[in-house]
Amino acid sequence: MEFSLGIDIGGSKLRIGTISSRGDVICSNIVDISKVKKAEKLVEIIVDNSNKLLLHCQLNISTCGIAIPGLTDANSGEWVFSPFSGIKNFPIASIIEKRLKLKTYIENDVNASAIAEKQVGSCQDISNFFWMTVSNGIGGAFFMNNQLYKGAFEHAGEIGHLTVVKDGVSCGCGGRGCLEKYASGASIERIYHQEKKEHLSAKEIARKATMGDSFSYELYQQTGRYLGKALSYVANLLNIQKIVLGGGVSMDFDLFNESLLQQFEEDVFMEANKSIVIEKTILLNQAALIGAGLIAMK
Ligand SMILES: [Zn+2]
Repeated sequence: MEFSLGIDIGGSKLRIGTISSRGDVICSNIVDISKVKKAEKLVEIIVDNSNKLLLHCQLNISTCGIAIPGLTDANSGEWVFSPFSGIKNFPIASIIEKRLKLKTYIENDVNASAIAEKQVGSCQDISNFFWMTVSNGIGGAFFMNNQLYKGAFEHAGEIGHLTVVKDGVSCGCGGRGCLEKYASGASIERIYHQEKKEHLSAKEIARKATMGDSFSYELYQQTGRYLGKALSYVANLLNIQKIVLGGGVSMDFDLFNESLLQQFEEDVFMEANKSIVIEKTILLNQAALIGAGLIAMK
């Protein structure tokens, strides 16, 4: 069996793992990078933790795959742009390749997640599906006829920047009222803070919602409605078999799946999309990490 090093750069967490060609995570660790703002600092953390993991894991590894949170040029190995961090035109693949001495590939993190779901997850027998990551930001990727569809300029699937509120909150993309500003983890935290004057993480707000806090519960219901509306546009456009939700916020899918489905059913052209399935990923929060490992073994 083949193995590779997978690296998933999240908005607040860095996941590093050794991945098998079957998609198993052999060893892994998680590093908090919520305070890291500079790409150079991030590289040092990646190199340091990767070397530790490789030493600990003792596998024969010669390749590395990195899941990038933002616009990515997989051919040039460049991290093109992340609105939330401001990192721009950073040649991360060649830098990591030199430092770790591993042949290094990169892919947008949402694409990497969709690749993992297709190769080792719940979509192995599904030829047309849409993957949506709901975490600090919101992104999408889709497989059409068993192929990842990247678009003419590699940036297809940017569902997070569909406008859902006219003249709404301004967004790092330059637009206003984007889905990402109303239904992501960061937006759940922002809306909660605006109302309650307290900084809680989306996870903590989810916990309060589960415990019966009505404001937190309604906040997650609203999140579901925004996501359901955006997904109805996706289904109407693509006529896919399945929509898979991943990312940190989606781990609490039980909290908002009813409002999401209700809004989706209200807005979608149902007769054309009556067999569609919407569910949470079976790869949980390791989808992008596993996908990163898999792209390095292509
Ligand atoms: Zn936007």
